Amino acid sequence: MMKLAVACGLVLLSSLLAVSSTAEQFDFFYFVQQWPGSFCDTWRGCCFPDTGKPAADFGIHGLWPNYATCHGRDDDAFSIVGRRGKCWPEYCEEEDGNALSPWEIRDLVASLSRSWPTLSCRGGDSFEFWSYEWKKHGTCSNLRPHDYFARALELKAAHNLTAILAGAGIVPSDTETYPMSGVGDAIAAATGATANLQCNRDKDGQTQLYQVFQCVDREAKNLIDCPLHMRSRCSGERAKLPLF
Ligand code: 5GP
Repeated sequence: MMKLAVACGLVLLSSLLAVSSTAEQFDFFYFVQQWPGSFCDTWRGCCFPDTGKPAADFGIHGLWPNYATCHGRDDDAFSIVGRRGKCWPEYCEEEDGNALSPWEIRDLVASLSRSWPTLSCRGGDSFEFWSYEWKKHGTCSNLRPHDYFARALELKAAHNLTAILAGAGIVPSDTETYPMSGVGDAIAAATGATANLQCNRDKDGQTQLYQVFQCVDREAKNLIDCPLHMRSRCSGERAKLPLF
């Protein structure tokens, strides 16, 4: 009996170790949303998805596991990202068997189409965008595909950026510019957590708010203050929030 208990304990321990050794050791998620007006208003332009013009609302770009400090350049030659070394994990499962299956997320498709639409001109199928994000980032999240997409939708619904900005008087306009410190303050006040902002330039070279990076715990459930401050073209500037 005693021997059996020890054997069972060993099996349990070894399976726990196996699970923890395959779990991806990132520190937090970036939950990234894009302002569609700023994605479209560049020299590159945009295209609407097959489902039609998305709402004038921030749309999800991705939920990205990230390290708090970049790892050494020699860590893993395959996934070195940039000069600073490897700053996030990506493409964690290489086998074809890990491709996103439409069946697995079938109950989320209507919501994903509204909240995570593609604006790329490479093709109007948002599912391709979701599959790409799953393969590159989701496979490193330690979440099953359904949870990965469901959590992203929950995060967006829990913190409505468009409404938060409107509450601070920051509304889409092609003429107005807004101090980006005001955007950051409004998000921090409404959500209780700091975020990073990313700007881009419109066709005339004017700065516009492009993406908001919120930081999320490893379960993809709760916002946290962003551990890293991204250097972005927004800092210290006024920027547009163009109409869409
Ligand atoms: P990531 O920034 O996640 O590494 O790459 C985004 C990829 O998704 C790019 O290849 C981009 O062409 C594609 N993509 C498709 N639709 C969109 C979209 O609406 N916004 C952005 N930013 N990328 C999109």
